[in-house]
Amino acid sequence: MTLTDPTQALAELHAGNRRFVTGAPRHPNQDAVHRAAVADGQHPFAVIVGCSDSRLAAEIIFDRGLGDLFVVRTAGHTVGPEVLGSVEYAVSVLGTPLVVVLGHDSCGAVQAARQAARTGTTPPGHLGAVVDAVTPSVRRAAAQGVDDVDGIVDIHIARTVEALLDNSAVLAAEVAAGRCAVVGLSYRLAAGEARTVAAVPAGAPGRAGHDQVAAVAG
Ligand SMILES: [Zn+2]
Repeated sequence: MTLTDPTQALAELHAGNRRFVTGAPRHPNQDAVHRAAVADGQHPFAVIVGCSDSRLAAEIIFDRGLGDLFVVRTAGHTVGPEVLGSVEYAVSVLGTPLVVVLGHDSCGAVQAARQAARTGTTPPGHLGAVVDAVTPSVRRAAAQGVDDVDGIVDIHIARTVEALLDNSAVLAAEVAAGRCAVVGLSYRLAAGEARTVAAVPAGAPGRAGHDQVAAVAG
């Protein structure tokens, strides 16, 4: 399947997520025939910039298979240079029409950043880099009177969407040209549902889904 329309790409993700939520997954594109068919080249229809959490496996929760999703994961979906480069590769070289930031409730990285902000301490080792990258979202949440972890998660997802566009001129140009959209989805671990919390261009691709579209938090 080659998709070039952001709206269609998001609709595919929502359709797969609904199959997963209702316990009726089709496990498409996971057979030997398809494996051979995509060996010569890939045309993924979505980039997933997701949290590394072991319960957030993109191909499972969106019921997709080989060659469908270009997945980049870090704890707390923080976006450093290698993540930006990976996203730019998918969007500009592979022609992927949709970038999804995928966060989730009870996120450990967000909890760690919230805790660090409260105690004024930084975790040891490179974990500090993850916390530092999430901390601006914790501050923004505090400025908006939001203190619960899941509220901070949604703000962090929206801020990650902004960070991708602010820090990647390549991605911003693709979005401005109408070839790509960036959407933030908030996933609930127990229910298995992914809900839209941010979309650029605002509202445009989110309408394909059945869920509510909120503007990117300011
Ligand atoms: Zn997480």
